Amino acid sequence: MSQYDLVIIGTGPGGYVCAVKAAQLGLKTAVVEKRATLGGTCLNIGCIPSKALLHASEMFEEAGHGFEQIGVKVPKPKLDLPVMMKHKSDVVDANVGGVAFLMKKNKIDVHTGTGKVLGQGKVEVTGEDGAATVLDTKNIVIATGSDVMPLPGVEIDEKLIVSSTGALDLEKVPGKLLVVGGGVIGLELGSVWNRLGSQVTVVEFMDKILGPMDGDVSKNFQRMLKKQGMEFKLSSKVTGVEKKGKGLAVTVEPAKGGDKEVLEADIVLVAIGRRPYTEGLGLDTAGVALDDRGRVQIDAHYKTNVDGIYAIGDVVAGPMLAHKAEDEGVALAEILSGQAGHVNYNVIPGVVYTQPEVASVGKTEEELKAAGIEYKTGKFNFSANGRARAMNKTDGFAKVLADAKTDEVLGVHILGFGAGEMIHEAAVLMEFGGSSEDLARTCHAHPTMSESVKEAALGAFFKSIHS
Ligand code: FAD
Repeated sequence: MSQYDLVIIGTGPGGYVCAVKAAQLGLKTAVVEKRATLGGTCLNIGCIPSKALLHASEMFEEAGHGFEQIGVKVPKPKLDLPVMMKHKSDVVDANVGGVAFLMKKNKIDVHTGTGKVLGQGKVEVTGEDGAATVLDTKNIVIATGSDVMPLPGVEIDEKLIVSSTGALDLEKVPGKLLVVGGGVIGLELGSVWNRLGSQVTVVEFMDKILGPMDGDVSKNFQRMLKKQGMEFKLSSKVTGVEKKGKGLAVTVEPAKGGDKEVLEADIVLVAIGRRPYTEGLGLDTAGVALDDRGRVQIDAHYKTNVDGIYAIGDVVAGPMLAHKAEDEGVALAEILSGQAGHVNYNVIPGVVYTQPEVASVGKTEEELKAAGIEYKTGKFNFSANGRARAMNKTDGFAKVLADAKTDEVLGVHILGFGAGEMIHEAAVLMEFGGSSEDLARTCHAHPTMSESVKEAALGAFFKSIHS
């Protein structure tokens, strides 16, 4: 008889949530984690520490510039970076401790060490001391997440040339920070250090920041970040970084080739994406197939080509987001318990936690055009929203895209204060196949930022009242 129903390798949002759900459904469950703390990339070096620094740096910025505009005079704020970093570490500790508590509460065994799939039903765990044990299980879940995508020819030392991990842990504010990659992670961490006083330049290969996001949002968002002092070099690539004196010389070329220029930087942050992490997992010998991008190949029920071996989260296809990994974890636990687990990949919100925030769910205008779907647009600027005016947060807009024939909402894109919270009313609406009329006829409290989402829906359905 197997020791476990389920052994999960990796305790990020995919792995630990899958474990909790499986245990709640009565499966005897264990997790294997090689990091000293649970919670994976998200809790240790991703979502959580970055949000702690984004919040703290936003408060610093508000105290320095935002307060006086609404009649609150305070002395010029001083940065205490060690205390800010301690706040970040305390937040991480509380969160990873929370996951350990959940493991105990749900009677999930935690095996610390590197997990290796020996084949169907067998996982070897090797501890730091080199001692190995083998776990017997009916099912194995690979939830090993992702790792930093390296930039060819540029070696990350996490001191001068850093990944997101190093950028969350800098000991002093860099004079000049060069960010390679205008995606979510680069813009969030670029924003943190920009607010704390760095001169930030973002070099992006594509001709827009936030690649897959709605073009309208991306263009306006870049304008706002520029106003905040960030500089952008689009359609450009970094081809080399060399140490020069105490700093760095960064070679930048046009993406299509052409004349090089050399920029100076104190710190370079490489944020060009993440890649699935399968190193040392023994997938070759276990016969588990990967796709052409190194992701574990799965079917619609998260099963690999080997019976009894499943995979979820960043290590499989789809957006590399914590909530996507979590929902896959829940769905898989349900499937393994004989229920009908399911994730609706059309309704996975994406949020950029800058100021203002960017939030999006469903299709962009570009995607609808490419798919030949006729749609109607409703857009409402926060400058016409009473609450936004009251809070001095009038930058941005909400945009609702609805099917021209059926009125079903196909996408919602919000650029503005609180966008990351507001997007969920759109997600719920879309989960239920709601229309722009449904959203427009839903009573929204006044005065709230969310009224702008209602007004945008009204714009798509008929006409906004307040614009
Ligand atoms: P991970 O969280 O990567 O966890 C995998 C775990 O597996 C790790 O703990 C690893 O140590 C362990 N592991 C790997 N191999 C083995 C092995 N052989 N044996 C034992 N253990 C192993 N997403 C959001 O949704 N919102 C955000 O705000 C956000 N911010 C981010 C900010 C940054 C700076 C970064 C880097 C990422 C951010 N993400 C964010 C992405 C998010 O962190 C990932 O999508 C999420 O962590 C994926 O979860 P996962 O469970 O698939 O894997």
